Amino acid sequence: MSSGRRPSGAARRLAVVLVAVAAVGAGCQQPAPRPPTPSPPSAPSPPPSATGPRAPADFVALSDVDPSIHTDIRYATAHNFVGRPIAGYPEPLCLLTRPAAEALRRVQAAALAEGRSVKVYDCYRPQRAVDDFVAWAKLPGEQQMKAEFYPDVAKSKLFADGYVGTPTAHSRGSTLDLTLVPVPPPTQPGYLPGQPPVACTAPPGQRFPDNSVDMGTGFDCFDPLAHTADARVTGAARANRELLRRLMTAQGFQNYPREWWHYQFTAEPYPRTYFNFPVARSSLP
Ligand SMILES: [Zn+2]
Repeated sequence: MSSGRRPSGAARRLAVVLVAVAAVGAGCQQPAPRPPTPSPPSAPSPPPSATGPRAPADFVALSDVDPSIHTDIRYATAHNFVGRPIAGYPEPLCLLTRPAAEALRRVQAAALAEGRSVKVYDCYRPQRAVDDFVAWAKLPGEQQMKAEFYPDVAKSKLFADGYVGTPTAHSRGSTLDLTLVPVPPPTQPGYLPGQPPVACTAPPGQRFPDNSVDMGTGFDCFDPLAHTADARVTGAARANRELLRRLMTAQGFQNYPREWWHYQFTAEPYPRTYFNFPVARSSLP
């Protein structure tokens, strides 16, 4: 190819940046509010440690607040839409601000009274994880998980369509992704990297055998069928989505309409701060 007919290096780099900023995100878009540009934490940062920045004093491990809540932290594993562990997740933990964790404890109490338990897929998400999603978005050839997580949506549209966003409310520490499981929960088969994918939009019994109740799609299913109010979701799956929404809104959480699993604590203590400490016990005070 003639170099004289190609855009300049600077122009190509700008194009890449514009595509990434317009397009990408992470697991979940936040409903509101969001700053005009991605930014590092805006609050005074805690002093750095050997492992990176630390969490403020009011961040907690959810398991310390309510050990009865189940966890399935997908971004610490290969079973997610990227297909490998995501940067910033050295441990499969749910970290949240204490007010959000306490509210979720009340959700769990109400859920247990109805024969269900909360299971969380993702909680606080460091900015470095979102940056990892951005980097992944620049690699159009890496689509090994497409058949399960975005079978009918082009990778280049995931972000423009709002399934992934940067920055994400998750980085503010009071937003989480969750589902409901029966009590006691069924055994969930382990995920084997490379196993044949099944579309997250497939009926229960065909898609990945998550031990949750039927929510109409799998988790992180980037498809209109995952929109909370999608009219094609009826029967038990509709009832389960509504139960989750009722339980969560009663304790101050707000759903993101494009993802049945994504909830933001509306009284979040850090509405404008995007943290970057790793998801690890050592990040907590
Ligand atoms: Zn989310």
